[in-house]
Amino acid sequence: MNGFGLDHLPYGVFSVAGGPRRVGVRIDDGDESWVVDLFAATGRPELEAPSLNAFMALGPDTWRETREQAAAEAEALRHAVPLADVALHLPIEVADYVDFYASEHHATNVGRIFRPDGEALLPNWKHLPVGYHGRAGTVVASGTPIVRPSGQRRGDPTPTYGPSTRLDIEAELGFVVGVGSELGSRVSYDAFAEHVFGVVGLNDWSARDIQAWEYVPLGPFLGKSFATSISPWVTPLAALDAAWVELPGQDPEPLPYLGPGATRGLDIDVEIEVNGEVVSRPPYRTMYWSPAQMLAHLTVNGASLRTGDLFASGTISGPEPDQRGSLLELGWGADDAFLDDGDEVVLRYTAPGTWGGRITLGEVGGVITPTST
Ligand code: CA
Repeated sequence: MNGFGLDHLPYGVFSVAGGPRRVGVRIDDGDESWVVDLFAATGRPELEAPSLNAFMALGPDTWRETREQAAAEAEALRHAVPLADVALHLPIEVADYVDFYASEHHATNVGRIFRPDGEALLPNWKHLPVGYHGRAGTVVASGTPIVRPSGQRRGDPTPTYGPSTRLDIEAELGFVVGVGSELGSRVSYDAFAEHVFGVVGLNDWSARDIQAWEYVPLGPFLGKSFATSISPWVTPLAALDAAWVELPGQDPEPLPYLGPGATRGLDIDVEIEVNGEVVSRPPYRTMYWSPAQMLAHLTVNGASLRTGDLFASGTISGPEPDQRGSLLELGWGADDAFLDDGDEVVLRYTAPGTWGGRITLGEVGGVITPTST
Protein backbone atom coordinates (compact mmCIF):
# COMPACT_ATOMS: atom_id res chain seq x y z
CA MET A 1 0.00 0.00 0.00
CA ASN A 2 1.21 3.53 -0.68
CA GLY A 3 -0.99 5.34 1.81
CA PHE A 4 -3.89 6.21 -0.50
CA GLY A 5 -6.12 3.21 0.13
CA LEU A 6 -9.78 3.04 1.13
CA ASP A 7 -8.86 3.98 4.70
CA HIS A 8 -7.70 7.42 3.53
CA LEU A 9 -9.70 8.98 0.64
CA PRO A 10 -8.45 12.57 0.88
CA TYR A 11 -10.44 15.35 -0.81
CA GLY A 12 -9.12 17.65 -3.51
CA VAL A 13 -10.20 19.89 -6.38
CA PHE A 14 -9.31 18.78 -9.90
CA SER A 15 -9.95 19.54 -13.54
CA VAL A 16 -9.46 17.56 -16.73
CA ALA A 17 -8.06 19.15 -19.90
CA GLY A 18 -8.85 22.68 -18.78
CA GLY A 19 -12.46 21.83 -17.95
CA PRO A 20 -14.39 23.00 -14.89
CA ARG A 21 -13.03 22.37 -11.43
CA ARG A 22 -14.79 19.88 -9.21
CA VAL A 23 -14.29 17.89 -6.02
CA GLY A 24 -12.80 14.41 -5.96
CA VAL A 25 -11.11 11.89 -3.68
CA ARG A 26 -7.87 10.09 -4.40
CA ILE A 27 -7.67 6.31 -4.44
CA ASP A 28 -4.67 4.21 -5.42
CA ASP A 29 -5.14 0.68 -6.66
CA GLY A 30 -1.97 -1.31 -7.14
CA ASP A 31 0.32 0.92 -9.17
CA GLU A 32 -2.51 3.06 -10.51
CA SER A 33 -3.64 6.35 -8.97
CA TRP A 34 -7.14 7.65 -9.56
CA VAL A 35 -9.41 10.55 -8.69
CA VAL A 36 -13.06 9.68 -8.11
CA ASP A 37 -15.34 12.45 -9.42
CA LEU A 38 -17.61 12.97 -6.42
CA PHE A 39 -20.22 15.05 -8.18
CA ALA A 40 -20.63 12.36 -10.82
CA ALA A 41 -20.71 9.75 -8.07
CA THR A 42 -23.19 11.41 -5.70
CA GLY A 43 -25.04 14.08 -7.65
CA ARG A 44 -24.51 16.42 -4.70
CA PRO A 45 -24.43 19.94 -6.19
CA GLU A 46 -21.94 21.28 -3.63
CA LEU A 47 -19.33 18.95 -5.16
CA GLU A 48 -19.56 20.52 -8.62
CA ALA A 49 -17.54 23.45 -7.32
CA PRO A 50 -14.09 25.01 -7.60
CA SER A 51 -13.39 24.55 -3.88
CA LEU A 52 -14.38 22.28 -1.01
CA ASN A 53 -16.04 25.13 0.88
CA ALA A 54 -19.70 24.57 -0.01
CA PHE A 55 -19.36 20.88 0.81
CA MET A 56 -17.45 21.48 4.04
CA ALA A 57 -20.16 23.88 5.24
CA LEU A 58 -22.71 21.03 5.23
CA GLY A 59 -21.27 19.55 8.42
CA PRO A 60 -20.21 16.22 9.91
CA ASP A 61 -23.31 14.16 9.05
CA THR A 62 -22.91 14.97 5.36
CA TRP A 63 -19.15 14.45 5.55
CA ARG A 64 -19.72 10.97 6.97
CA GLU A 65 -22.39 10.05 4.43
CA THR A 66 -20.30 11.31 1.51
CA ARG A 67 -17.25 9.42 2.73
CA GLU A 68 -19.27 6.20 2.69
CA GLN A 69 -20.45 6.92 -0.85
CA ALA A 70 -16.90 7.81 -1.90
CA ALA A 71 -15.57 4.54 -0.48
CA ALA A 72 -18.11 2.49 -2.44
CA GLU A 73 -17.27 4.33 -5.67
CA ALA A 74 -13.52 4.13 -5.05
CA GLU A 75 -13.64 0.41 -4.29
CA ALA A 76 -15.40 -0.20 -7.62
CA LEU A 77 -13.33 2.49 -9.41
CA ARG A 78 -16.56 4.03 -10.71
CA HIS A 79 -16.43 7.63 -11.97
CA ALA A 80 -12.65 7.41 -11.65
CA VAL A 81 -10.18 9.44 -13.73
CA PRO A 82 -6.46 8.58 -13.85
CA LEU A 83 -4.55 10.96 -11.59
CA ALA A 84 -2.07 11.48 -14.43
CA ASP A 85 -4.85 13.05 -16.52
CA VAL A 86 -5.95 15.70 -14.02
CA ALA A 87 -4.69 19.07 -12.84
CA LEU A 88 -4.92 19.62 -9.07
CA HIS A 89 -5.79 23.02 -7.61
CA LEU A 90 -5.92 24.86 -4.29
CA PRO A 91 -8.51 22.70 -2.50
CA ILE A 92 -10.15 25.38 -0.35
CA GLU A 93 -11.03 29.02 -0.65
CA VAL A 94 -9.12 30.24 2.37
CA ALA A 95 -11.27 32.52 4.54
CA ASP A 96 -8.93 33.55 7.35
CA TYR A 97 -5.48 32.17 7.97
CA VAL A 98 -4.10 31.95 11.50
CA ASP A 99 -0.67 30.62 12.32
CA PHE A 100 0.23 29.34 15.79
CA TYR A 101 3.59 28.67 17.44
CA ALA A 102 2.73 25.48 19.28
CA SER A 103 6.06 23.59 19.40
CA GLU A 104 8.03 24.18 22.58
CA HIS A 105 11.20 22.93 20.90
CA HIS A 106 10.76 25.33 17.98
CA ALA A 107 9.86 28.32 20.16
CA THR A 108 12.84 27.61 22.42
CA ASN A 109 15.25 27.23 19.51
CA VAL A 110 14.06 30.43 17.82
CA GLY A 111 14.14 32.32 21.12
CA ARG A 112 17.76 31.27 21.64
CA ILE A 113 18.74 32.24 18.09
CA PHE A 114 16.86 35.58 17.93
CA ARG A 115 17.30 36.62 21.59
CA PRO A 116 20.52 34.97 22.80
CA ASP A 117 20.67 37.22 25.88
CA GLY A 118 17.03 36.79 26.98
CA GLU A 119 14.70 34.05 28.15
CA ALA A 120 14.07 31.61 25.29
CA LEU A 121 10.34 31.35 26.07
CA LEU A 122 8.42 34.53 26.88
CA PRO A 123 6.20 34.53 30.04
CA ASN A 124 2.91 33.97 28.15
CA TRP A 125 4.09 30.97 26.13
CA LYS A 126 3.00 28.14 28.47
CA HIS A 127 -0.31 29.85 29.30
CA LEU A 128 -1.75 30.31 25.83
CA PRO A 129 -1.11 29.06 22.30
CA VAL A 130 0.69 32.08 20.79
CA GLY A 131 -0.41 32.91 17.25
CA TYR A 132 -1.00 35.67 14.71
CA HIS A 133 -3.32 36.39 11.80
CA GLY A 134 -1.68 35.64 8.46
CA ARG A 135 -2.56 36.50 4.90
CA ALA A 136 -5.28 34.27 3.44
CA GLY A 137 -4.88 35.56 -0.12
CA THR A 138 -1.32 34.26 -0.48
CA VAL A 139 -2.03 30.67 0.53
CA VAL A 140 -1.13 28.73 -2.62
CA ALA A 141 -1.36 25.18 -3.88
CA SER A 142 1.60 22.83 -3.71
CA GLY A 143 3.75 23.23 -6.81
CA THR A 144 3.23 26.99 -7.13
CA PRO A 145 6.66 28.59 -7.71
CA ILE A 146 7.81 30.73 -4.77
CA VAL A 147 9.20 34.08 -5.87
CA ARG A 148 11.99 35.21 -3.55
CA PRO A 149 10.57 38.17 -1.59
CA SER A 150 12.28 41.51 -1.27
CA GLY A 151 12.09 43.73 1.77
CA GLN A 152 13.77 45.84 4.35
CA ARG A 153 16.49 44.37 6.56
CA ARG A 154 18.50 45.60 9.51
CA GLY A 155 21.68 47.36 8.33
CA ASP A 156 24.59 49.28 9.72
CA PRO A 157 24.15 52.17 10.05
CA THR A 158 20.82 52.21 8.20
CA PRO A 159 18.42 49.53 6.93
CA THR A 160 18.80 48.16 3.43
CA TYR A 161 16.28 46.91 0.87
CA GLY A 162 16.66 43.94 -1.45
CA PRO A 163 15.91 40.27 -2.09
CA SER A 164 15.83 38.18 1.08
CA THR A 165 19.13 36.44 1.77
CA ARG A 166 17.67 34.22 4.50
CA LEU A 167 14.72 32.50 2.83
CA ASP A 168 13.45 29.61 4.93
CA ILE A 169 10.74 27.00 5.30
CA GLU A 170 8.47 26.11 8.19
CA ALA A 171 7.14 22.54 8.18
CA GLU A 172 3.66 22.70 9.69
CA LEU A 173 0.27 21.03 9.75
CA GLY A 174 -2.83 23.04 8.76
CA PHE A 175 -6.38 22.52 10.08
CA VAL A 176 -9.30 23.38 7.80
CA VAL A 177 -12.56 24.67 9.29
CA GLY A 178 -15.72 23.35 7.67
CA VAL A 179 -18.50 24.67 9.91
CA GLY A 180 -18.37 28.27 11.08
CA SER A 181 -19.58 29.80 14.35
CA GLU A 182 -21.55 32.85 15.52
CA LEU A 183 -19.80 36.12 16.25
CA GLY A 184 -19.74 36.60 20.02
CA SER A 185 -19.82 32.88 20.84
CA ARG A 186 -16.96 30.61 21.83
CA VAL A 187 -16.10 27.26 20.30
CA SER A 188 -15.24 24.80 23.03
CA TYR A 189 -12.27 22.48 22.68
CA ASP A 190 -14.66 19.52 22.76
CA ALA A 191 -16.48 20.81 19.66
CA PHE A 192 -13.34 20.38 17.54
CA ALA A 193 -14.74 17.60 15.33
CA GLU A 194 -18.00 19.51 14.76
CA HIS A 195 -16.10 22.37 13.12
CA VAL A 196 -12.83 21.04 11.72
CA PHE A 197 -13.11 19.14 8.45
CA GLY A 198 -9.57 17.93 7.99
CA VAL A 199 -5.86 18.60 7.76
CA VAL A 200 -3.38 19.68 5.10
CA GLY A 201 0.39 19.72 4.89
CA LEU A 202 1.64 23.30 5.07
CA ASN A 203 4.91 25.13 4.37
CA ASP A 204 4.95 28.62 5.87
CA TRP A 205 7.76 30.16 3.78
CA SER A 206 9.63 32.74 5.88
CA ALA A 207 12.19 35.48 5.10
CA ARG A 208 14.24 35.55 8.29
CA ASP A 209 16.13 38.77 7.54
CA ILE A 210 12.89 40.68 6.90
CA GLN A 211 11.23 38.99 9.90
CA ALA A 212 14.06 39.75 12.36
CA TRP A 213 13.94 43.48 11.60
CA GLU A 214 10.17 43.99 11.48
CA TYR A 215 8.68 41.67 14.09
CA VAL A 216 8.97 43.83 17.24
CA PRO A 217 6.49 44.89 18.58
CA LEU A 218 3.55 43.62 16.50
CA GLY A 219 4.80 40.26 15.28
CA PRO A 220 5.23 38.63 11.87
CA PHE A 221 4.29 40.69 8.81
CA LEU A 222 5.96 40.86 5.38
CA GLY A 223 8.56 38.24 6.25
CA LYS A 224 5.71 35.71 6.23
CA SER A 225 2.93 37.02 4.01
CA PHE A 226 4.46 36.47 0.54
CA ALA A 227 3.46 32.77 0.30
CA THR A 228 2.19 29.80 2.29
CA SER A 229 1.91 26.48 0.42
CA ILE A 230 -0.59 23.74 1.25
CA SER A 231 -1.09 20.22 -0.03
CA PRO A 232 -3.65 19.60 -2.79
CA TRP A 233 -5.26 16.88 -0.66
CA VAL A 234 -7.25 17.51 2.52
CA THR A 235 -7.22 14.45 4.77
CA PRO A 236 -10.59 14.25 6.57
CA LEU A 237 -10.51 13.82 10.34
CA ALA A 238 -12.28 10.49 9.86
CA ALA A 239 -9.12 9.06 8.27
CA LEU A 240 -7.09 10.07 11.34
CA ASP A 241 -9.12 8.27 14.01
CA ALA A 242 -6.17 5.97 14.81
CA ALA A 243 -3.60 8.79 14.88
CA TRP A 244 -4.62 10.58 18.10
CA VAL A 245 -2.05 10.43 20.92
CA GLU A 246 -1.49 12.22 24.21
CA LEU A 247 0.96 15.08 23.82
CA PRO A 248 4.08 15.13 26.06
CA GLY A 249 2.38 17.15 28.82
CA GLN A 250 1.64 20.69 29.97
CA ASP A 251 3.02 22.40 33.07
CA PRO A 252 1.55 24.61 34.42
CA GLU A 253 -1.96 23.32 33.80
CA PRO A 254 -3.71 25.66 31.37
CA LEU A 255 -6.82 27.70 32.19
CA PRO A 256 -10.11 25.74 32.07
CA TYR A 257 -11.18 27.09 28.66
CA LEU A 258 -8.10 25.38 27.23
CA GLY A 259 -9.43 22.09 28.49
CA PRO A 260 -7.04 20.20 30.71
CA GLY A 261 -8.59 17.14 29.03
CA ALA A 262 -7.99 18.42 25.49
CA THR A 263 -4.34 17.54 25.19
CA ARG A 264 -4.45 15.03 22.36
CA GLY A 265 -2.28 15.54 19.32
CA LEU A 266 -1.71 13.54 16.16
CA ASP A 267 1.00 10.96 15.59
CA ILE A 268 2.01 12.39 12.23
CA ASP A 269 5.58 11.99 10.96
CA VAL A 270 6.90 14.77 8.77
CA GLU A 271 9.80 14.56 6.33
CA ILE A 272 11.57 17.60 4.89
CA GLU A 273 13.30 17.08 1.57
CA VAL A 274 15.53 19.77 0.02
CA ASN A 275 16.73 19.11 -3.55
CA GLY A 276 15.94 15.41 -3.20
CA GLU A 277 17.70 14.90 0.12
CA VAL A 278 15.89 14.35 3.42
CA VAL A 279 17.25 16.94 5.88
CA SER A 280 14.90 16.45 8.84
CA ARG A 281 12.06 14.32 10.25
CA PRO A 282 9.92 16.38 12.65
CA PRO A 283 7.36 14.43 14.74
CA TYR A 284 4.03 16.23 15.23
CA ARG A 285 3.29 14.21 18.40
CA THR A 286 5.96 16.27 20.26
CA MET A 287 3.95 19.53 20.07
CA TYR A 288 3.05 21.36 23.28
CA TRP A 289 -0.39 22.78 22.39
CA SER A 290 -3.08 20.56 20.86
CA PRO A 291 -5.25 21.33 17.81
CA ALA A 292 -8.39 21.53 20.01
CA GLN A 293 -6.68 24.01 22.32
CA MET A 294 -5.65 26.17 19.37
CA LEU A 295 -9.27 26.21 18.16
CA ALA A 296 -10.61 27.07 21.64
CA HIS A 297 -8.10 29.88 22.01
CA LEU A 298 -8.80 31.22 18.53
CA THR A 299 -12.45 31.84 19.48
CA VAL A 300 -12.25 32.56 23.23
CA ASN A 301 -12.75 36.28 22.62
CA GLY A 302 -15.92 35.66 20.61
CA ALA A 303 -14.27 35.84 17.18
CA SER A 304 -16.34 33.80 14.75
CA LEU A 305 -15.15 30.99 12.52
CA ARG A 306 -15.92 30.89 8.81
CA THR A 307 -15.99 27.99 6.40
CA GLY A 308 -12.53 27.83 4.84
CA ASP A 309 -10.65 29.19 7.84
CA LEU A 310 -7.19 27.68 8.03
CA PHE A 311 -5.22 27.49 11.25
CA ALA A 312 -1.71 26.11 11.29
CA SER A 313 0.32 24.48 14.04
CA GLY A 314 3.44 26.57 13.74
CA THR A 315 6.76 25.00 12.87
CA ILE A 316 6.98 21.40 14.02
CA SER A 317 10.32 20.74 15.73
CA GLY A 318 11.11 17.70 17.84
CA PRO A 319 13.70 17.53 20.62
CA GLU A 320 16.51 16.13 18.44
CA PRO A 321 18.70 18.16 16.04
CA ASP A 322 17.53 16.07 13.07
CA GLN A 323 13.87 16.76 13.96
CA ARG A 324 13.92 20.52 13.46
CA GLY A 325 11.28 22.01 11.18
CA SER A 326 13.11 25.02 9.74
CA LEU A 327 16.48 25.70 8.11
CA LEU A 328 17.03 28.48 10.67
CA GLU A 329 17.13 25.83 13.38
CA LEU A 330 18.85 23.12 11.32
CA GLY A 331 21.73 25.53 10.56
CA TRP A 332 21.43 27.32 13.94
CA GLY A 333 21.25 30.72 12.25
CA ALA A 334 24.27 30.26 9.94
CA ASP A 335 24.15 32.52 6.86
CA ASP A 336 24.57 29.61 4.42
CA ALA A 337 21.69 27.56 5.85
CA PHE A 338 19.00 29.15 3.67
CA LEU A 339 17.44 28.57 0.25
CA ASP A 340 19.04 29.47 -3.08
CA ASP A 341 17.13 30.23 -6.26
CA GLY A 342 16.23 26.95 -7.94
CA ASP A 343 16.08 24.99 -4.68
CA GLU A 344 13.13 22.64 -4.35
CA VAL A 345 11.51 21.78 -1.02
CA VAL A 346 9.04 18.93 -0.53
CA LEU A 347 7.26 18.18 2.75
CA ARG A 348 5.82 14.68 3.22
CA TYR A 349 3.54 13.45 5.98
CA THR A 350 2.39 10.00 7.15
CA ALA A 351 0.05 8.92 9.92
CA PRO A 352 -1.35 5.66 11.34
CA GLY A 353 -4.38 4.61 9.33
CA THR A 354 -7.54 3.07 10.70
CA TRP A 355 -6.75 -0.28 9.08
CA GLY A 356 -3.39 -0.73 10.79
CA GLY A 357 -0.96 0.56 8.16
CA ARG A 358 0.03 4.14 7.47
CA ILE A 359 -1.67 6.72 5.29
CA THR A 360 0.24 9.31 3.27
CA LEU A 361 -1.06 12.84 3.58
CA GLY A 362 -0.78 15.16 0.61
CA GLU A 363 2.74 16.42 0.00
CA VAL A 364 3.66 20.08 -0.26
CA GLY A 365 6.25 21.14 -2.85
CA GLY A 366 7.68 24.38 -4.12
CA VAL A 367 10.67 25.71 -6.08
CA ILE A 368 12.33 29.06 -5.31
CA THR A 369 12.41 31.41 -8.30
CA PRO A 370 14.45 34.65 -8.50
CA THR A 371 13.06 37.96 -7.33
CA SER A 372 11.14 39.68 -10.12
CA THR A 373 12.57 43.07 -11.00
CA1 CA B 1 4.77 29.66 10.87
